[in-house]
Amino acid sequence: MPYLLKPDAKIAVIGAGPAGSFFSYFALKKAKEKKINTLRVKIFDYKKFAQSGPKACNLCAGVIQSNFSQKLLEIGLELPQEVIQRKVSGYIFHTSRGDLELPGSSNIYPIITVYRGNGPLFFSHMGNISFDDALLNLAKSEGAEALQALVIGLEKPALDKLPRITYKIKEKIFEEEFDLIAGAFGLNTKMLGKIEGLNFGFRSPKMRRAFQTELHLGKEFIKNLKGEIHIFALGIKGISFAAFIPKEEHCTLTLIGNKDLNLNDLQNFLRHPKIIDFLPKGWKIPEYFCSCQPWIAVSPALKPFFDRLVIIGDANCNRYYKNGIESAYYTALFAAETVLGFGIDRVSLEKYFYTACKKELIIDNYFGKVFFILNSLIAKVPFITRAHLTLGKGNNKVSKIERRILWGIFTGAEKYRDLFFESLNPLLILNLLFYSALYLLKDLKNFIFKGK
Ligand SMILES: Cc1cc2nc3c(=O)[nH]c(=O)nc-3n(C[C@H](O)[C@H](O)[C@H](O)COP(=O)(O)OP(=O)(O)OC[C@H]3O[C@@H](n4cnc5c(N)ncnc54)[C@H](O)[C@@H]3O)c2cc1C
Repeated sequence: MPYLLKPDAKIAVIGAGPAGSFFSYFALKKAKEKKINTLRVKIFDYKKFAQSGPKACNLCAGVIQSNFSQKLLEIGLELPQEVIQRKVSGYIFHTSRGDLELPGSSNIYPIITVYRGNGPLFFSHMGNISFDDALLNLAKSEGAEALQALVIGLEKPALDKLPRITYKIKEKIFEEEFDLIAGAFGLNTKMLGKIEGLNFGFRSPKMRRAFQTELHLGKEFIKNLKGEIHIFALGIKGISFAAFIPKEEHCTLTLIGNKDLNLNDLQNFLRHPKIIDFLPKGWKIPEYFCSCQPWIAVSPALKPFFDRLVIIGDANCNRYYKNGIESAYYTALFAAETVLGFGIDRVSLEKYFYTACKKELIIDNYFGKVFFILNSLIAKVPFITRAHLTLGKGNNKVSKIERRILWGIFTGAEKYRDLFFESLNPLLILNLLFYSALYLLKDLKNFIFKGK
């Protein structure tokens, strides 16, 4: 028998990032649809998003795809103008063998860039531009209560006993019982270890450290980018790809690697001739700049649910290397639908919540991983890189397929599975084989006759 949430239940949400705010919003909204006005949702987060710098920020590049902007509007979140840093006009893909431009469509919902906290350190703006704060306000507008507090402990939940969480406000410790706990604490937290320690089978996602920095490159430079996101896959050791994301005054530079990245990797990257060429002439990294080394998940968590406990957002699963905010939206929605519609026991959570997460995200990521492995290989083999670039620049049907696949991979706008099946198009494969063989022969000829 499913164990149902009581109408006057109290829910604790640990974390006020996208997963926590979306869950609180959906749970309260669904309760009202069922004519339940007594449900209480308390969100705990020690961060104050309206401050600047990494301490107040959820450490992300801040790109929001057009279809997700549309979803935000549909749930009633019209982002204040000052939150939107840039509208993205397209992507430019740079390799050591050439570049490929992928212009955006004229979609009425543009791709936008935002800051999760209130902008980087050493930033001159006034007011509040935090995306996460806007989301939290949405949850509050539905009736959620937000507490600036650090959760430091929780008891193993059980159906016959309300779990208690321990939290800290300034130096004072509090304890409180809840009917349900939603773990929306992301990856950069000790909470993962605490949940593993409850010994019900939860295992954290496998993670790597990305490196991210805010570069003050000057207004003229940002203006010349014309709202384009520049992605570099240069085959630099350890770095799978890097993206320059234009904001109002800064460019966010995100490095994603096949190992944990650090400051040395940033310096190596900035020394690459293509990057020196791309940056303003004579630009040097300043003595002080805003940077962070956030964890990024490369696999899903195991068993992100138990009786009276549901883990959502990054701490559960997200789309491989893409659109984590949208993934948080989905896991939050599935969790709210399950706890309000089906039950809060482990069987109901597995049957409805976890199955939906697997269908939407976890299975699709297997296809995503194949694409990213292929991308790394392509970036390392010059004649295959050139074959892809030549095909991507053409104007025929096959070139359009190649561009659509690349666009889908960069933006995360389409499911990896759909892109994978599209990439099996026989004409596309034949063309790639043809151009690869052509460039391989050219390279061999150059090597034999000119010695290079
Ligand atoms: C380098 C990088 C770039 C990215 N770029 C993008 C992008 O461009 N677009 C995109 O959509 N996604 C991007 N992502 C992914 C995105 O940041 C995450 O998927 C998203 O933030 C997950 O939301 P969440 O709510 O699960 O976790 P988080 O956003 O991490 O929020 C967790 C919250 O929990 C709070 N918390 C943690 N522990 C406690 C505790 N003990 N007590 C109280 N509060 C606690 C934290 O303070 C935090 O506010 C990027 C990720 C990385 C690493």
